[in-house]
Amino acid sequence: MKKIESLPFVAEFVRLCSIGDAQGFHERNGGNLSYHMTADEAKAARKLLAGRKPGPWTDVDPKGDVAVPGLAGEWFLVTGSGKFFRNVAYDAEASAAICELDGDGSHYRVRWGLRGGGRPTSEFSSHLMNLEVKDRLSGGKVRVIYHAHPANLIAMTYVVPLKDRDFTRALWNTMTECPVIFPEGIGVVKWMVPGGREIAVSTSKLMEKYANVVWAHHGVFCAADTFDNAMGQMETIEKAARIFMLVLSSGRKPLAGITSAGYRAIGKAFRVEIPARFL
Ligand SMILES: [Zn+2]
Repeated sequence: MKKIESLPFVAEFVRLCSIGDAQGFHERNGGNLSYHMTADEAKAARKLLAGRKPGPWTDVDPKGDVAVPGLAGEWFLVTGSGKFFRNVAYDAEASAAICELDGDGSHYRVRWGLRGGGRPTSEFSSHLMNLEVKDRLSGGKVRVIYHAHPANLIAMTYVVPLKDRDFTRALWNTMTECPVIFPEGIGVVKWMVPGGREIAVSTSKLMEKYANVVWAHHGVFCAADTFDNAMGQMETIEKAARIFMLVLSSGRKPLAGITSAGYRAIGKAFRVEIPARFL
């Protein structure tokens, strides 16, 4: 019989986890990944799971104060709380879960995965609130939310002011392709306790403007239409951060780099809109 793991979106989800692990973005149980399944994918999963008893309905957030009505009834594939990215390829059914939301988007139940028990990532609230914003803004195109702990980007949050403009310019200035890959810039959330509603609300507000959001002294959230683009954004941001830290650690005073006129020219050449507030 065909298994859930053989569905293409599950295979791609597993592959991203392995790539992220190989990149060193996921020490121990660090990071999490979610995917908003299409109606056809949910249908295919439902068919394979016929006869399997769903788990009990559970609050999206343990405090019971998170609801995503815009995603009511939708299905998601998500990594499990406390699970290690490196184990997803080894045993996806123990490390991840397919969850279904109820009619008002405040409760979920596990339809597959988390064999042996557990719950979705402790950042499930952030993932769902980000997916809800992106679903609305992209007309259903953006379906992947990827959170990782890349070392150089975290290091940057100790030396660059925690402001959208400062981070955007610092990253853009490292590599010409950065403003092409994230032309809208990057958002920054000040340090907060992770997990739960408060950080989810702050992040999802920034997701109204950006595809990528930094969590100070913690990591990055990327939103994308495909798994390839989610990983591509994470890798680009971390590479830019590495270049920034390399330049800083050279001890030499950096030269000017790319100018505002240069960014305008990039915007024109690559047909991307560079917000005036970052120039
Ligand atoms: Zn984290």
